[in-house]
Amino acid sequence: MLKGKVVVVTGSTSGIGLAIARGFAAQGADVMLNGLGEAAAIEAVRSGIERDHGVRAFFDGADLTKGEAVRGLVENAVRALGRIDILVNNAGIQHTSPIDEFPTDKWDQIIALNLSAVFHGTAAALPHMKKQGWGRIINIASTHGLVASPYKSAYVAAKHGVVGFTKSTALEAAGTGVTANAICPGWVRTALVETQITALAKSKGLDQEVAARELLAEKQPSLEFVTPEQLAAMAVYLASDAAAQITGTTLAVDGGWTAR
Ligand code: NAD
Repeated sequence: MLKGKVVVVTGSTSGIGLAIARGFAAQGADVMLNGLGEAAAIEAVRSGIERDHGVRAFFDGADLTKGEAVRGLVENAVRALGRIDILVNNAGIQHTSPIDEFPTDKWDQIIALNLSAVFHGTAAALPHMKKQGWGRIINIASTHGLVASPYKSAYVAAKHGVVGFTKSTALEAAGTGVTANAICPGWVRTALVETQITALAKSKGLDQEVAARELLAEKQPSLEFVTPEQLAAMAVYLASDAAAQITGTTLAVDGGWTAR
């Protein structure tokens, strides 16, 4: 379906981003990977995508807390793969703390990566997409872009910001063939959430699996984790012609979290 298209997925060395990169590669798209991690493991992922799907896969290890690095990632993708058709702004981090104790450096880091990188990436990609009359900006926000939880102030602020920024992007791009949407996942069992499960298990003296169930029970009525593959399928759908008129909206994939 996406043969000949080029997708850049930020934060795609693990978790949701990696599943999205694989999901697009399975549809024939060439992929620019990005993220942190150990070089040999990343190379195994990159070459595995090329081997499994017969597409081109490149990796750029840019640290996306820096605006110029985000813009450089987009330009590197265009240089290496010839174009950019789909940008998935996915890289993100979490830190939990009460507001009055929230470390300023953590606040700055979360806003830089979870929010400002979305601005820089979009600003760099839009001219290419508008020029070719087709493009997809897919922002991985969160249920925390729609509702809040205590002790996640920076994350909640950044993700609400992403949802607002997505709407502005959609309005500015309307009629150009470029759409912008935000996917808002509930709990997905990736490294980002495993850390929170471990913290809960430790604080309450629970087994890891019991803590995982407790985490779900507090927020996610389905009592099941969303899978990275389900999010990849949603991202691929947003890149399809069927989704050409879906723009400026949020798509919650959250087991009922935000229905309460
Ligand atoms: P993850 O920790 O598995 O993946 C995060 C990715 O971002 C990794 O590839 C990591 O290397 C990369 N990254 C971290 N710092 C970076 C930096 N400075 N520059 C470039 N890349 C960097 O986490 P995940 O759960 O897959 O999260 C992916 C996105 O999904 C995040 O934006 C997160 O907020 C969002 N999300 C996750 C959940 C969940 O329950 N896991 C729910 C809603 C939204």
